Amino acid sequence: MIVMKTTVTGWHQDEESYWVAELACGHSRHFRHNPPWQVREWVVTPQGRDGFLGSELDCKECDPPT
Ligand SMILES: [Zn+2]
Repeated sequence: MIVMKTTVTGWHQDEESYWVAELACGHSRHFRHNPPWQVREWVVTPQGRDGFLGSELDCKECDPPT
């Protein structure tokens, strides 16, 4: 299985105020802070989001269909 790597290039919020990471490949990824189910306190702070810029992650959208 090939896993495509991409990096985080920016952020925006969706219509529900959840934070969405913009990826270098042109896709995006939601990072929901929705306690107690999904706890990502860092994503609601500018410092936390800044710290994530440039981070490498796998893009499932870029994975070729199997
Ligand atoms: Zn992608």
